[in-house]
Amino acid sequence: MGGKKVIIVGAGPGGLTAGMLLASRGFEVEILEKEAVVGGRNAAIEMDGFVFDTGPTFLMMRYVLDEIFALASRKTSDYLDIREVDPLYRLRFDAQREFFPSRNREATAQQIARLFPGDEKGYERFLANEERKLAKAIPCLQVPYGSFFHLARLRLLKALPFLDIHRTLYDHLASYFDHPDLRIAFTFQAKYLGMSPWQCPGLFSIISLIEHGQGLYHPIGGLHRISTAMARAVREDGGTIRLSTPVQEILVENGRAVGVRLQDGERLTADFVIVNADFAHAMTRLVPEQHRRKYTDKAIAGKRFSCSTFMLYLGTDRTWDIPHHNIIFAPDYRKNVAEIAEAHELSRDPSVYVQNPCVLDPSMAPPGKSALYVLVPITNNESGIDWEKETPAYRELVLDILESRAGLAGLRSHIVCEKVLTPLDWEQRYNVYRGATFNLAHNVGQMLVWRPHNRFEEFKGCYLVGGGTHPGSGLPTIYESARISAELLMEDAGIRFPFAAARTQG
Ligand SMILES: Cc1cc2nc3c(=O)[nH]c(=O)nc-3n(C[C@H](O)[C@H](O)[C@H](O)COP(=O)(O)OP(=O)(O)OC[C@H]3O[C@@H](n4cnc5c(N)ncnc54)[C@H](O)[C@@H]3O)c2cc1C
Repeated sequence: MGGKKVIIVGAGPGGLTAGMLLASRGFEVEILEKEAVVGGRNAAIEMDGFVFDTGPTFLMMRYVLDEIFALASRKTSDYLDIREVDPLYRLRFDAQREFFPSRNREATAQQIARLFPGDEKGYERFLANEERKLAKAIPCLQVPYGSFFHLARLRLLKALPFLDIHRTLYDHLASYFDHPDLRIAFTFQAKYLGMSPWQCPGLFSIISLIEHGQGLYHPIGGLHRISTAMARAVREDGGTIRLSTPVQEILVENGRAVGVRLQDGERLTADFVIVNADFAHAMTRLVPEQHRRKYTDKAIAGKRFSCSTFMLYLGTDRTWDIPHHNIIFAPDYRKNVAEIAEAHELSRDPSVYVQNPCVLDPSMAPPGKSALYVLVPITNNESGIDWEKETPAYRELVLDILESRAGLAGLRSHIVCEKVLTPLDWEQRYNVYRGATFNLAHNVGQMLVWRPHNRFEEFKGCYLVGGGTHPGSGLPTIYESARISAELLMEDAGIRFPFAAARTQG
């Protein structure tokens, strides 16, 4: 079956998933990756015996990953040792209140009753109502939206009254909880989409429900191991992955993608081209404007983009007594979020996320030491902030917060190696448009049929995978984007590929 040649631009989670699915069905897959390693934002960073995940540290909806491996006739457990993270996370609010939600509903309800008296009933309602919403929403996200007619799909029409797209995530959660901190505990997940809970559609309460209902996971070695496992599967099925091979241009002839030109001038042809590179970057840099009517440079500049992140990867010479995931909220969280999403200015008192994976997975650091991953959500490069100038002072500011509020007293004196990434690095080194790490924003006007289509609408023979297409940013949705796009490609190649039948949820 297959036999047709597919070129994939980028070996990030989207490109690897598509490559794995298509190679397993006999397509001749060639993945071209500009970096020397696979994974993109989901690659490893290795320093002096310490290992860090570059980007994703939360693996949710692990059944989607299992389904992808099953579709490629494999078992995830033959490639990855995945453990549950329990509790989900430590949430620390300004009043020094700490909340450790977990998948154990009884224990979580008891904590809520103690910390946020009266709101425990809202928690029960949240679980029941949102479960219903999730069941309606998931099937809507598993199908492509290539035309406005698709908005009339029965499953979407039936789901609409349950999706809460008419109000913001924060307003929606306010219908369950009175206490402002508890509302934040169930809405901060908008940050996974790079958005503000005060702007993000109420639909996305399904993310906190997924965490509370299905849990969070960590593959031993780090989440980047998913990328290397997928790369292994691609190669096992005869696909090739060319590293350190940047693509210069996607070649379009007579309204059809016919291949790519590499930066070194080599021209490669294919029956189909899949684009995994960041969507806005790929359009503005890899596709000459004469081939774009809808996504001109100007149209792209007018889109809404997610926030960015300031990152510290710290190798330390000791272990730390804090959980795996820690979120230290800004004293004025509303202001912090507005600075990021509305004012586009640098927060001087930001929220900070710290991952201390060695508590669960000591393999990520030399014995007795630990690898700390620090993520600060901040405004993207629309801000015009001069990162070369700001970085040293911002690093100090973040370390102050970590030492005083995160449970990492004396941290500075234990750092033995470190790496910093700023929005400028995301843009220049990782080819992420405006350094918007979570891609195009997920406002209703940029979702479903209004998001760049999986079967790309500008020219034939081209498909998009990754956070910039439907269903959106985040690992499970990116895997889903690749499954949808691979299915469309198979359809165009005249092969019936019953992916849909293999979906276990929804
Ligand atoms: C800091 C951070 C934290 C995140 N945390 C989470 C999380 O906890 N959980 C979660 O589910 N998601 C998370 N995400 C979001 C998302 O899952 C990841 O960003 C994911 O890696 C995006 O995958 P992708 O396939 O869309 O793009 P990418 O990972 O960016 O892959 C695109 C690939 O294309 C390559 N490329 C670009 N241009 C070219 C070119 N010209 N030629 C050849 N190759 C090219 C890139 O090098 C890259 O390998 C996080 C993202 C970031 C940045």
